[in-house]
Parts: sequence; structure tokens; C-alpha cells
Amino acid sequence: MRRQTLTMTEIFKGSFTQQEPIPDEGIAAATMVMQHGRLHRYNTAPGELAEAALLEEEFAQTVGSKYCLAVASGGYAMTTALRACGVGHGDKVLTNAFTLAPVPGAIAAVGGVPIFVGVTEDLVIDLADLAAKLDQAKILLLSHMRGHICDMKQLMAMCDAAGVTVIEDCAHTMGAAWDGVPSGRWGKFGCYSTQTYKHINSGEGGFLISDDAEGMARAIMLSGSYMLFEKHRAAPPATAFAQIKYETPNISGRMDNLRAAILRPQLRNLKTQGEKWNARYRVLEDGLRDVPGLRLIERPAQEQFVASSFQFLLLDWSSEAVADVLGRCAARGVELKWFGGAEPTGFTSRYDSWRYALSDPMPASDRILAGVIDMRLPLTFSLEDCAQIARIIRGEVSAVYQGLAAAE
Ligand SMILES: *Cc1c(COP(=O)(O)O)cnc(C)c1O
Repeated sequence: MRRQTLTMTEIFKGSFTQQEPIPDEGIAAATMVMQHGRLHRYNTAPGELAEAALLEEEFAQTVGSKYCLAVASGGYAMTTALRACGVGHGDKVLTNAFTLAPVPGAIAAVGGVPIFVGVTEDLVIDLADLAAKLDQAKILLLSHMRGHICDMKQLMAMCDAAGVTVIEDCAHTMGAAWDGVPSGRWGKFGCYSTQTYKHINSGEGGFLISDDAEGMARAIMLSGSYMLFEKHRAAPPATAFAQIKYETPNISGRMDNLRAAILRPQLRNLKTQGEKWNARYRVLEDGLRDVPGLRLIERPAQEQFVASSFQFLLLDWSSEAVADVLGRCAARGVELKWFGGAEPTGFTSRYDSWRYALSDPMPASDRILAGVIDMRLPLTFSLEDCAQIARIIRGEVSAVYQGLAAAE
């Protein structure tokens, strides 16, 4: 009995926002850049290759794209992709209702108007809702939100048939794939973030990848290449810039050599890190199986995901009951986020809290968003930490659920 009591009151002591340190190799490379002082990517000594140019080449190799551009943020990667596709003032852009603020923000930044597409219980874009809205826009900014990847073959077939260009937001899918094809390689552009909470960490940063020479030439000019595009390595040939260099405004958002130096060793570890993330994910998933009232997100066999967070649904629970679970878990050190809250808090917000982008009510998606519980999964958590977190969530969800059942 005493053992039972201890288990019921165990408290998790870890931090949900603590990253691993930058690898020693990255620190050494960053120190060298600071010592030589040539932080700007185009400031190279004779014969020297910039860290930023090398990073782009290595990232392109990692995902198998022809071209890659390293930029200042994931948000900047998305606005640049939209601009390179010609999106301008008043143009409509389809995007996910379930995503985070930088996505509709990127559309708004270029003067575009988001049209939100619903979310399914598997937390991916609702392809039936997409089909109904495909004729309203020429571009889909598809967010693989929290690393959940929809049936990409079906989505691309639908978009190709409708003449809709796809730009992928891969902020949560670096290193992930659908049916063997890396996320970011399905659409015309793939956009990534290297911000602190993503798969590799330079504080701020991002990548844009593409196989489209014209689109990438535009993107490189947009990012602020001061006619130095020939210093890039994962870039189209100079001929692709012949006309574009005169027509494209400079909207500076380059990555610097310091960040690139920090990222290169992390990129080499990406696969191993992904395996560590997924091992943690599976421990949580196993620990939360068969909890009455709690729905896990089943991951399809074609989806080679890379976890960095964990979601489950408390579907059709009242706001009070969800808030009760969150409060009880928080009291035991487990920090959960909720997409059903009326107000945007922390990193969490919903399509109807972005008041610069008007939306029609989406009751089917509202029902799902009201039940989405979200948790960060930093690699500083051990497998035992994840097992303990699962025990705590399991205990508190069960306690609230039993209370609800008893009250009925
Ligand atoms: C983090 C994130 C981005 C990019 O964010 P930046 O902070 O601009 O690097 C894009 N989409 C989603 C869903 C994100 O979480």
C-alpha cells in the first residue's frame, strides 16, 4: 500500500525547455569563426569556403535536394518561398488550421490571405476539406505540424491536378519522410527551422530547399546576396540569375557563418538524434496505451517521423475536465499545453486567435483542437523520465475520467 501511495504522488523534476549543449565540435568551430571575425557569409579569405555555403551543401545532400539556402529563421524561409512563388498582396494561400503562428504570419507578411484547412483526429490536414477549398488558391503552405505527415501521395495528386503549388513547412519534420521520400521534397519548396526548439539548434535560423532553379535563384536574391550568388555551392548556375538578379528586391535574411558553424556538427548527428527522440516517444506512447478517455495518435507505417514532441487527444472532454487534468499534471511537474484554450498562451494558439486572418467557423476542427494536448520532448529527458511522465499523465487522466464517470 505504501508503495502505491508513493507512485501516486511521484513528481517529475525535469525541465521541458532544457536543450542539450551544443556539441564540442560546434563550439570549437564557432570559436574559430569568432577568432577570424569573418561572420558574414560572403566575407571569405582567398580560397576559403564559408561555413554557411558548406552547411547548405551538406543539408542539400542530407535531404537529397539540388539546392539549399540557409536563412535567418524558419519564418523567413516560408516568406521567401511564398515571394519566390509570386504570392503578393491580396493573394489567397491555403494552409493548416492546426499549426503555429509563424505559418499564417508568413502568409500575412507577404500580404497574402490565409484560407484555413481543417485537421483530422490523426492531427494531419483534412484532405476532404482541402479538396473542397483547392479552387480558392494557387498555393498551399502545408504545415507538417508537430511532425504529423498526411498521405503525401494523395495530397500531391490532388494539388497537381488542381494546379496548386505546394510549399512544405518542415519545422517539425527535419529528417522525417513519407513513404521513403523526405518531407520537404514533395512540394516546390521545403522550409525548415533551426530555432532552439527544433531538431537542430542555432538559436534562430532556417533552410529553404528546392529543385527549381528559377525559384531558388529568386530566393537567393531575395535573401540578400548582393550579387555574390556565385559564392553559393548548393545553388543554380549563374545563368539562372541572368535576368532575376535585376528584378528581385533584396530582403535581407541570410544565415551567418557563426550559426552555420554551430549547425554543421549537429546535422551530422541528425539521424542518431532522431533515433533518440523516437525511443523517448515510444516509451511515452507505451505508457499511455489503453487509458480510458485518452486517444493516442496512431502513426501510419508510411510515416517515418522524427519526434520532438508528443500529442494525445482528450476528445469530447469538457474544458473544465481538460483544465483539471492540466492543473493536476502541472502540480506534479508535467507541463502540458492545450490547443483548446480560449486565449493564445506561450507557443500555443489557434486559427481563430489570429485576428489579422479572418476565418470561417470550422466546427469539426474545433472539436479536435479542443481535445489536443501537446508536450515537448527535449533530448535531455531520459527514457526513465519519459516512463515517469507517462505514469503521471496516466494517473491524472484516469483520476479525472473516473470522477467524470462517477458524476454521471
Ligand atoms: C518554429 C516553427 C516555424 C518556424 O519558426 P521560426 O521561429 O521562424 O524559425 C514554422 N512552423 C512551425 C509549425 C513552427 O513550429
